[in-house]
Amino acid sequence: MFSVAVYCGSRAGHDPRFALAAQRLGQAIGRRGFRLVYGGGRAGLMGQVADAALAAGAQVLGVIPHRLMARELGHSGLQELRVVDTMHERKLQMAQAADAFVALPGGLGTLEELFEAWTWRQLGYHERPIGLLDVAGFYAPLRAQVAHMQAGGFVDAIHVDRLQVDDDPERLLARLHEEAAARGGREDFSPI
Ligand code: AMP
Repeated sequence: MFSVAVYCGSRAGHDPRFALAAQRLGQAIGRRGFRLVYGGGRAGLMGQVADAALAAGAQVLGVIPHRLMARELGHSGLQELRVVDTMHERKLQMAQAADAFVALPGGLGTLEELFEAWTWRQLGYHERPIGLLDVAGFYAPLRAQVAHMQAGGFVDAIHVDRLQVDDDPERLLARLHEEAAARGGREDFSPI
Protein backbone atom coordinates (compact mmCIF):
# COMPACT_ATOMS: atom_id res chain seq x y z
CA MET A 1 0.00 0.00 0.00
CA PHE A 2 1.36 3.41 -0.96
CA SER A 3 2.39 5.09 2.28
CA VAL A 4 2.70 8.82 2.80
CA ALA A 5 4.69 10.18 5.73
CA VAL A 6 3.23 13.48 6.84
CA TYR A 7 5.25 15.97 8.87
CA CYS A 8 3.27 18.79 10.46
CA GLY A 9 2.84 21.03 13.46
CA SER A 10 2.11 19.65 16.89
CA ARG A 11 0.04 22.83 17.18
CA ALA A 12 -2.75 23.97 14.88
CA GLY A 13 -1.35 27.46 14.19
CA HIS A 14 -3.42 30.64 14.03
CA ASP A 15 -4.87 30.44 10.53
CA PRO A 16 -7.86 28.04 10.29
CA ARG A 17 -6.77 27.22 6.73
CA PHE A 18 -3.91 25.16 8.19
CA ALA A 19 -6.25 22.75 9.96
CA LEU A 20 -8.51 22.64 6.94
CA ALA A 21 -5.59 21.67 4.71
CA ALA A 22 -4.52 19.00 7.21
CA GLN A 23 -8.04 17.54 7.14
CA ARG A 24 -8.19 17.65 3.36
CA LEU A 25 -4.84 15.90 3.12
CA GLY A 26 -5.99 13.17 5.51
CA GLN A 27 -9.22 12.72 3.54
CA ALA A 28 -7.36 12.56 0.25
CA ILE A 29 -5.01 9.89 1.64
CA GLY A 30 -8.04 7.81 2.63
CA ARG A 31 -9.88 8.40 -0.61
CA ARG A 32 -6.93 7.23 -2.66
CA GLY A 33 -6.50 4.09 -0.57
CA PHE A 34 -3.09 5.22 0.69
CA ARG A 35 -1.69 4.69 4.18
CA LEU A 36 -0.84 7.59 6.49
CA VAL A 37 2.44 7.41 8.41
CA TYR A 38 2.87 10.17 10.98
CA GLY A 39 4.10 11.08 14.44
CA GLY A 40 1.33 9.24 16.28
CA GLY A 41 -0.12 12.13 18.29
CA ARG A 42 -3.49 13.84 18.53
CA ALA A 43 -2.06 17.30 19.16
CA GLY A 44 -2.38 20.11 16.63
CA LEU A 45 -2.30 19.43 12.90
CA MET A 46 -1.07 15.89 13.60
CA GLY A 47 -4.42 15.00 15.13
CA GLN A 48 -6.31 16.71 12.30
CA VAL A 49 -4.56 14.70 9.59
CA ALA A 50 -4.90 11.42 11.46
CA ASP A 51 -8.57 11.80 12.37
CA ALA A 52 -9.52 12.84 8.84
CA ALA A 53 -7.56 9.93 7.36
CA LEU A 54 -9.20 7.44 9.74
CA ALA A 55 -12.66 8.84 8.97
CA ALA A 56 -11.93 8.38 5.27
CA GLY A 57 -11.04 4.73 5.85
CA ALA A 58 -7.25 4.99 5.67
CA GLN A 59 -4.80 2.74 7.40
CA VAL A 60 -2.76 4.85 9.81
CA LEU A 61 0.62 4.09 11.34
CA GLY A 62 1.83 6.35 14.14
CA VAL A 63 5.37 6.31 15.53
CA ILE A 64 5.94 8.17 18.77
CA PRO A 65 8.72 8.23 21.36
CA HIS A 66 7.73 7.20 24.95
CA ARG A 67 8.47 10.56 26.41
CA LEU A 68 6.20 12.38 23.96
CA MET A 69 3.15 10.19 24.59
CA ALA A 70 1.71 12.71 27.06
CA ARG A 71 2.93 15.89 25.40
CA GLU A 72 1.74 15.02 21.90
CA LEU A 73 -1.29 13.01 23.08
CA GLY A 74 -0.53 9.52 21.73
CA HIS A 75 -3.45 8.49 19.52
CA SER A 76 -5.29 5.39 20.77
CA GLY A 77 -7.53 5.00 17.70
CA LEU A 78 -4.92 4.05 15.08
CA GLN A 79 -4.60 0.61 13.51
CA GLU A 80 -0.94 0.68 14.55
CA LEU A 81 0.89 2.85 17.09
CA ARG A 82 4.58 2.11 17.62
CA VAL A 83 5.96 3.55 20.83
CA VAL A 84 9.73 3.81 20.39
CA ASP A 85 12.64 4.76 22.64
CA THR A 86 14.10 7.72 20.80
CA MET A 87 13.31 10.48 18.35
CA HIS A 88 15.91 9.04 15.99
CA GLU A 89 14.11 5.71 16.03
CA ARG A 90 10.81 7.47 15.30
CA LYS A 91 12.18 9.34 12.31
CA LEU A 92 13.92 6.29 10.90
CA GLN A 93 10.83 4.09 11.21
CA MET A 94 8.65 6.75 9.63
CA ALA A 95 11.07 7.21 6.76
CA GLN A 96 11.46 3.48 6.19
CA ALA A 97 7.69 2.99 6.08
CA ALA A 98 7.12 5.84 3.60
CA ASP A 99 6.88 5.86 -0.18
CA ALA A 100 6.62 9.64 -0.18
CA PHE A 101 6.91 12.55 2.27
CA VAL A 102 4.67 15.58 2.72
CA ALA A 103 5.19 18.59 4.96
CA LEU A 104 2.28 20.73 6.10
CA PRO A 105 2.70 24.00 8.00
CA GLY A 106 4.44 23.53 11.32
CA GLY A 107 7.26 24.69 13.53
CA LEU A 108 10.85 23.74 14.20
CA GLY A 109 10.14 20.00 14.43
CA THR A 110 8.35 20.00 11.10
CA LEU A 111 11.21 21.81 9.39
CA GLU A 112 13.74 19.47 10.92
CA GLU A 113 11.86 16.46 9.58
CA LEU A 114 11.30 17.97 6.12
CA PHE A 115 14.96 18.90 5.80
CA GLU A 116 16.08 15.50 6.98
CA ALA A 117 14.04 13.76 4.26
CA TRP A 118 15.23 16.33 1.71
CA THR A 119 18.93 16.15 2.64
CA TRP A 120 18.85 12.35 2.77
CA ARG A 121 17.57 12.46 -0.78
CA GLN A 122 20.25 14.94 -1.78
CA LEU A 123 22.83 12.51 -0.44
CA GLY A 124 21.30 9.61 -2.36
CA TYR A 125 20.09 7.70 0.72
CA HIS A 126 16.68 7.38 -0.94
CA GLU A 127 14.79 8.41 -4.07
CA ARG A 128 11.36 8.95 -2.60
CA PRO A 129 9.37 12.02 -3.62
CA ILE A 130 8.97 14.91 -1.22
CA GLY A 131 6.11 17.41 -1.29
CA LEU A 132 5.46 20.69 0.42
CA LEU A 133 1.82 21.58 0.99
CA ASP A 134 2.16 25.34 0.89
CA VAL A 135 -1.05 26.49 2.53
CA ALA A 136 -1.91 30.20 2.28
CA GLY A 137 1.66 31.03 1.25
CA PHE A 138 2.99 29.81 4.61
CA TYR A 139 6.21 28.53 3.11
CA ALA A 140 6.98 31.47 0.78
CA PRO A 141 9.75 32.79 3.08
CA LEU A 142 11.29 29.33 3.36
CA ARG A 143 11.25 28.88 -0.41
CA ALA A 144 12.86 32.31 -0.76
CA GLN A 145 15.59 31.27 1.67
CA VAL A 146 16.26 28.08 -0.28
CA ALA A 147 16.39 30.08 -3.54
CA HIS A 148 18.85 32.40 -1.78
CA MET A 149 21.04 29.44 -0.81
CA GLN A 150 20.90 28.20 -4.40
CA ALA A 151 21.89 31.66 -5.71
CA GLY A 152 24.73 31.68 -3.20
CA GLY A 153 26.10 28.44 -4.61
CA PHE A 154 25.28 26.16 -1.70
CA VAL A 155 22.53 24.04 -3.26
CA ASP A 156 22.15 22.67 -6.77
CA ALA A 157 18.97 23.50 -8.67
CA ILE A 158 18.22 19.82 -9.15
CA HIS A 159 17.77 19.35 -5.41
CA VAL A 160 15.67 22.48 -5.03
CA ASP A 161 13.47 21.53 -7.97
CA ARG A 162 12.87 18.05 -6.61
CA LEU A 163 10.68 19.42 -3.86
CA GLN A 164 7.13 19.32 -5.23
CA VAL A 165 5.26 22.38 -4.04
CA ASP A 166 1.50 22.67 -4.26
CA ASP A 167 -1.36 24.29 -2.36
CA ASP A 168 -3.84 21.52 -3.15
CA PRO A 169 -3.61 18.23 -1.21
CA GLU A 170 -5.23 16.06 -3.92
CA ARG A 171 -3.00 17.41 -6.65
CA LEU A 172 0.12 17.13 -4.51
CA LEU A 173 -0.62 13.49 -3.66
CA ALA A 174 -1.25 12.72 -7.34
CA ARG A 175 2.08 14.29 -8.30
CA LEU A 176 3.98 12.38 -5.62
CA HIS A 177 2.33 9.10 -6.54
CA GLU A 178 3.15 9.67 -10.20
CA GLU A 179 6.77 10.46 -9.41
CA ALA A 180 7.11 7.33 -7.28
CA ALA A 181 5.42 5.17 -9.92
CA ALA A 182 7.74 6.49 -12.64
CA ARG A 183 10.69 5.44 -10.53
CA GLY A 184 9.46 1.87 -9.97
CA GLY A 185 9.65 -0.06 -6.71
CA ARG A 186 10.69 1.24 -3.34
CA GLU A 187 14.39 0.86 -2.66
CA ASP A 188 15.86 -0.10 0.71
CA PHE A 189 16.28 2.83 3.00
CA SER A 190 19.47 2.98 4.94
CA PRO A 191 20.67 6.42 5.95
CA ILE A 192 24.07 5.23 7.20
P1 AMP B 1 6.59 21.18 15.54
O1 AMP B 1 6.61 21.50 14.08
O2 AMP B 1 7.73 21.85 16.29
O3 AMP B 1 5.27 21.37 16.19
O4 AMP B 1 6.94 19.64 15.63
C1 AMP B 1 6.29 18.76 14.80
C2 AMP B 1 6.73 17.38 15.10
O5 AMP B 1 8.15 17.32 15.00
C3 AMP B 1 6.37 16.92 16.49
O6 AMP B 1 5.83 15.62 16.38
C4 AMP B 1 7.67 16.87 17.21
O7 AMP B 1 7.73 15.78 18.12
C5 AMP B 1 8.64 16.65 16.13
N1 AMP B 1 9.95 17.19 16.52
C6 AMP B 1 10.19 18.16 17.39
N2 AMP B 1 11.51 18.35 17.55
C7 AMP B 1 12.12 17.47 16.73
C8 AMP B 1 13.46 17.15 16.43
N3 AMP B 1 14.50 17.76 17.01
N4 AMP B 1 13.69 16.19 15.54
C9 AMP B 1 12.67 15.58 14.96
N5 AMP B 1 11.39 15.82 15.18
C10 AMP B 1 11.10 16.74 16.07
